[in-house]
Amino acid sequence: ANAEGIVELDAGIMDGTRHRAGAVTGLRGVKHAISVARLVLEKTTHTTIGGIGLQEFARNMGFHPEQLLTPNSLKKWMEWKADPHHKTYWVSPENHDTIGMVATDGKGHIAAGCSTSGMAWKIPGRVADSPLVGCGYYADDNAGGASATGDGDLMTNYCTSVTIVHMMARGASPQEACEELLRNMVKTDTRNRESEAAVIAMNTRGEVGAASMNSKMHLPYGLWNNGKSQLRESTNVY
Ligand code: ASP
Repeated sequence: ANAEGIVELDAGIMDGTRHRAGAVTGLRGVKHAISVARLVLEKTTHTTIGGIGLQEFARNMGFHPEQLLTPNSLKKWMEWKADPHHKTYWVSPENHDTIGMVATDGKGHIAAGCSTSGMAWKIPGRVADSPLVGCGYYADDNAGGASATGDGDLMTNYCTSVTIVHMMARGASPQEACEELLRNMVKTDTRNRESEAAVIAMNTRGEVGAASMNSKMHLPYGLWNNGKSQLRESTNVY
């Protein structure tokens, strides 16, 4: 939920064959934000939609607004609101949740996407990495795909997913590219070593990689291949 106790979802999806993405930002009242993002991709010539117009777009596409704040989240928001010393984004971050995905059909076609309710207690209207092409997600059939999670306010400044895909295009393995991206963030600013950041990647050959900045936000990930799924651990870079 954002600082007003309203759930605002961000999501994006990219088709690496058409090199086209669809995304939504600040979507209220619709659980499957990625489905609305997919419709932006398929039904419009736009890439990202937000604001009041997005609510209308979702309604026109047949999504009926529902209450997304669970009783548990409402309770947490009320506690946060009532705490006079609560953390806000006018100062610094608290917590988050994101699902990122990269997929290939085994024939070199890549798609990537991600979906999130973003950082808790965010300032209404905040746009972070998840709905932005090249930041939260990116796919290109010439190289592969990537997706990111963590402190999106920070990570947006590093265009994480497109950077990883470009590294793979120049020959890095998905694992090397994920680790190098995180190391580069620390090269730029050593404080980033303590930040929450994790990335996954897959190349057109179906090789995968995953890395977390540190153990603070260690990212386990699932690998599905021909009906078999595995839970794996990403590498901590620091
Ligand atoms: N990156 C997301 C955001 O900043 C949060 C997350 O990945 O959990 O909104």
